[in-house]
Amino acid sequence: MDELEKSTFSAIKKELVKRKIELEEQLTQLSKEKVTNDVVQDPGDMASTSTMESLKISLQDAEKKEYDRIVQALAKIEDGTYGICIDCGRHIGEKRLKNSPNSSRCLMCQEQFEVRD
Ligand SMILES: [Zn+2]
Repeated sequence: MDELEKSTFSAIKKELVKRKIELEEQLTQLSKEKVTNDVVQDPGDMASTSTMESLKISLQDAEKKEYDRIVQALAKIEDGTYGICIDCGRHIGEKRLKNSPNSSRCLMCQEQFEVRD
C-alpha cells in the first residue's frame, strides 16, 4: 500500500490551493506595479530601473512557473493521477510530496531530469 492516505492527500490539496491563491495575488500585484515611470531619468537611474525591471521579470517568471505547476498538480488531483511520477509511473512518495507538493516526478527521475536539463 503505497498510495497516499486520505488525510495527507487533503492536506496537500489544501496547501496547493493556498499557495495558488498566494501566487495569484502576487502575480496580480506584480503586473499592477510599474517599475518604470514616465519621468525623465538620468542614465544612472535608468540603469537601476532596468535592473529592477529584469528582477521583476525573473520573479514574475518564477512565480508563473510555480503557478503552472500547482495548476497541473491540482488537475492531477482531480483526475486521480496525482502523486504518480510522469516519467516512470511509480508513486512519488509521501515525504517528497509533503516537501514539494507540486512535484510531477519522483526523486530519481527529477535528478535525471535536472542533469539532462
Ligand atoms: Zn520516476
